[in-house]
Amino acid sequence: MCLREPRRSSWCMLLLLLAGLPALAQESPAKLRVDMYRGGFATVNSFVFSNGKSQIVMDVQRKSYEADKLIALIKAKGLPLSHVLITHGHTDHFTGMARLHQAFPQARIVVATEEIKRAIKAYAIYMGSGGETGAEPALEPALKPKTPQNPGGFDYENWIEVLPSKTLSLDGGGTLELSTDYLPAEADYMTTVYSPELNALFLSDFGYNRVHLWLGDDISRQDIANWKAELGRIKRDYAARNPTVYPGHGAVTDMSMFDTVIGYIDDYTRVTLAAKTRREAMAQMTALYPGWGEADFFLKYSLENHVKE
Ligand SMILES: [Zn+2]
Repeated sequence: MCLREPRRSSWCMLLLLLAGLPALAQESPAKLRVDMYRGGFATVNSFVFSNGKSQIVMDVQRKSYEADKLIALIKAKGLPLSHVLITHGHTDHFTGMARLHQAFPQARIVVATEEIKRAIKAYAIYMGSGGETGAEPALEPALKPKTPQNPGGFDYENWIEVLPSKTLSLDGGGTLELSTDYLPAEADYMTTVYSPELNALFLSDFGYNRVHLWLGDDISRQDIANWKAELGRIKRDYAARNPTVYPGHGAVTDMSMFDTVIGYIDDYTRVTLAAKTRREAMAQMTALYPGWGEADFFLKYSLENHVKE
């Protein structure tokens, strides 16, 4: 307390001397901090947790050139990277892991559940075998699965580890509490992270801030309804703690994001059920949400999925 009041600095020094060094050490635990890397492609976020002794990175970008910038941010801290945590099996969150593996071979690539590991592997194999669409550019070569024909490829089975518990601790202090008990929504399996030290909630792709929601591919009406229900539940669970909220896409925000995204889901559902054409739905959604990111990417492919012409 007194350390924050410079006018009393001489008193502080005296008190600290009287209190002795053990008390000083207790008052100066390694501080956990988070740095947010905001990717350009798909407006996707990565997070670097550090405490002065080690680092953990959560989600690693869709493009190798973005992963390289993330690697530079991690290296600039000059601390060992212990873990690369991937929250779910979508390419905008896991593609960079091959680059991270090359840059930090000692870092463990981890996921919270076996299902997420399987989802990552399945998506990469699908993408690597010509499954890319207009919405999904081709797989980065470094992520091509390791096979007898491609021995230099990515070894999904052996390089991705399923964590034995839902708590991930940083060497030097600080814990990340992982939650995976969610209904299928933006992805079939999703990890969210809460940091008690930071009182910060990392929603991965349950959270979008001023970025149109990804509702493309195989995201059904039921998945959208589940998403809304889970947002209501997460909001209730964390309301008393009132954490800082970090979305998977878009800028850092607060608990007000929950009602905004729930409102977006209601608007999207109403507009796409009533619209005769995608063009009409696009005009209505962009008028309701002016300036929101990824209209020509996430919203475009979401409407292709939900407005049949
Ligand atoms: Zn995403």
